[in-house]
Amino acid sequence: MRTFDPNGLGTLVERVVAEARPLAREGSVASYIPALAAADPARVGLALVDADGRSHQAGDSRDRFTMQSVSKPIALALAMESAGEEAVFSRVGKEPTGDPFNSIIRLETSERRKPFNPLINAGAIVVSSLLPGSDAAEKGEAFRAFAGRLAGRATLDRDEEVFRSERETGARNRSIAWFLAELGLLACPVEDALDVYFRQCAALVDALDLARIGAVLALDGLEPGTGERLMAQRSARVVKALMFSCGLYDESGEFGVDAGLPAKSGVGGGLMAAAPGRCGIGAFGPALDRRGNSVAGLAMVRSLSAELGLYAL
Ligand code: GLN
Repeated sequence: MRTFDPNGLGTLVERVVAEARPLAREGSVASYIPALAAADPARVGLALVDADGRSHQAGDSRDRFTMQSVSKPIALALAMESAGEEAVFSRVGKEPTGDPFNSIIRLETSERRKPFNPLINAGAIVVSSLLPGSDAAEKGEAFRAFAGRLAGRATLDRDEEVFRSERETGARNRSIAWFLAELGLLACPVEDALDVYFRQCAALVDALDLARIGAVLALDGLEPGTGERLMAQRSARVVKALMFSCGLYDESGEFGVDAGLPAKSGVGGGLMAAAPGRCGIGAFGPALDRRGNSVAGLAMVRSLSAELGLYAL
């Protein structure tokens, strides 16, 4: 396994952030969830955690933001660990769509009658319904405890304003969820499934948290530094495979070719990547491209991959 020169890494991370800062001007913050519109588009942060648990950070790496869709692969891992792989993949597929994250169209037109994958909203809402717990509050807590553990914390805080803002305005997700209910794919009442989904999307992290979680995935479920097992190897591998093919929606193929890494974005500006066997990367930049992916985040992960030879395939 290749290791890093820790002295050079700090400088590299600083340089990559400095180069990405001007790019933030090319994107715009998400505003369809009203509370997200207040984010500062100029923020840019980056963190890397290696297999020994050493971290390197630069820029706004300790700014907190809501996970949004970065929560989806984590919820998927938790559902696989608790409900089991068969329960998950009998309700949701493993195929990319080439569609935007919130697209509803294939739920009706596709013969498979289930969401294409767990990283688009439709699939993620099914996964949220499968989380452990008897109601939305318990499922939400289970998510926060699991994600917190992966990030090396007791739990994660939640941004109540973003949670409420999305719950009040999420008509598209509500439509998707009712469609899923009609197909018989939800494992709990439809309003509970939505509530859990909005709760996990509003979980607060920083770039370092995402780098730590990415490192656990990179190490096939082991905690960097301690080697303690935090999820089954199988869960980590399935999650990474789906992140590679579906993690950036209709930009997954292009990013996969450029950076060669499994990654997951969120409209809060977060981007998490896992370089198998090597490191986790957490990037933050709330200015998004038109597919809903962080402009600076994508550029920084691409640069690190090129500079450190992280290409996984
Ligand atoms: N909560 C957001 C939504 O469902 C998450 C989307 C995203 O981050 N791509 O619309």
